[in-house]
Amino acid sequence: MTEHVLELSSRFIDTGRADSPPNRVTHELSELADGVALVEAFSHVVVVKTDDGLVAFDSSGPGSGRRVLESLRRWSDDPFHTLVYSHGHIDHVGGSRAFAQDAKSSGRPLPRVIAHENLNPRLQRYRATNGYNKVINARQFGGSPVSTLGGPGSQQPFVPEGTLEPVIEYSDAMTAEVGGIEFQLHHAMGETDDHTWTWIPHHQMISAGDQFIWNFPNCGNPQKVQRYPLEWAASLREMASTDVELFVPAHGLPISGHDRIVSCLNNVASTLEQLVDDVVSAMNSGSTLNDIVGAVRVDPEALELPYLRPLYDEPEFVIRNIWRLYGGWWDGKPSRLKPASDVAIAVELAELAGGVSILAERARALAEAGELRVACHLIDMAADAAPESAAVHEIRAWVYLTRRAAESSLMSKGIFESAANESREAAGQEFERRRPKLSLEE
Ligand SMILES: [Zn+2]
Repeated sequence: MTEHVLELSSRFIDTGRADSPPNRVTHELSELADGVALVEAFSHVVVVKTDDGLVAFDSSGPGSGRRVLESLRRWSDDPFHTLVYSHGHIDHVGGSRAFAQDAKSSGRPLPRVIAHENLNPRLQRYRATNGYNKVINARQFGGSPVSTLGGPGSQQPFVPEGTLEPVIEYSDAMTAEVGGIEFQLHHAMGETDDHTWTWIPHHQMISAGDQFIWNFPNCGNPQKVQRYPLEWAASLREMASTDVELFVPAHGLPISGHDRIVSCLNNVASTLEQLVDDVVSAMNSGSTLNDIVGAVRVDPEALELPYLRPLYDEPEFVIRNIWRLYGGWWDGKPSRLKPASDVAIAVELAELAGGVSILAERARALAEAGELRVACHLIDMAADAAPESAAVHEIRAWVYLTRRAAESSLMSKGIFESAANESREAAGQEFERRRPKLSLEE
């Protein structure tokens, strides 16, 4: 018999070890309590039954909404009364057209959509940065160079047509009563500025969105806008102060048991608070960003917890995010305030070295010796100095694939793989052109 999702999470947390991926994209439904169901997908959908119909949290993404609905419809045929968006990331709102389709095909009204007031402006920003968002996903999830963006599906807008927009918005907090069940919505800053976490007293349950993702918090993503670590931690502390017995994040496993939930929430909160503390005190003493990145560390034991492993985002990126939040974009190195072009520096260095090929070979030797950070600088310079050289690009592809293999986070792996593929393409080599794979696990 397969282990119930709540037994699985208890085992992972209690033993401190996950022997299978906690982020599962099964599209299968699990009942978590009487009248509460979860469908695990790239982002999950959580549903609560009420006397007036179903209340759903998130809609999953454009590619999974329909499959999630099929699973839900085998569990209940009640109408969807309300859809609450935990935040405006596309993997949470992009499946809503499947909910619209479901209502239409059964002649029922659309579910009313509730969200924080910053969600609609977020969708507007995504429309204004449509191409950029596709570039991000091509790198992060596909490991693909930008040149692959013209492939199948490239005409699809990033915010899918037919995405349901919120009809009820709130600012700080809001209580909604549906069919005799109370839903207390709380605004939180954290992964985004438009997060909603919901406390449902009847079930002693929290629907948490992405404030908890069974990975190191997505608080540093190098390609995305500002994240808010202290506000994030504060929201986790607030969740921990409820009588919660059932905790349902939008990625990873649901968790049961008050003490177990509280210890997870407090561990993530402490990790974020400690990082902010360390970075800000180093800033206060005049350190540069580069020094801080080299010096600040998260307790390695915390990074082994089954819900804090840096498999998606990672602490180094969070440090940069904290610098940007409390400082600015300049990293404190005077030459980088108004830097020379990459090509000008590369040409100068190649000449000093005695030729581009010497620079490239040195990069290869450094990579072989495990000096991957320096190796990447040198090979980028070699490629900047000789962008047409197939020989340089062959080495660059190898250096970045080696770098990729040494990384733990999906974000680093994706970006380094996309650099490798960029060079494979420049060197005329074959590589797999694949569509972005939306998965937190590799
Ligand atoms: Zn998410």
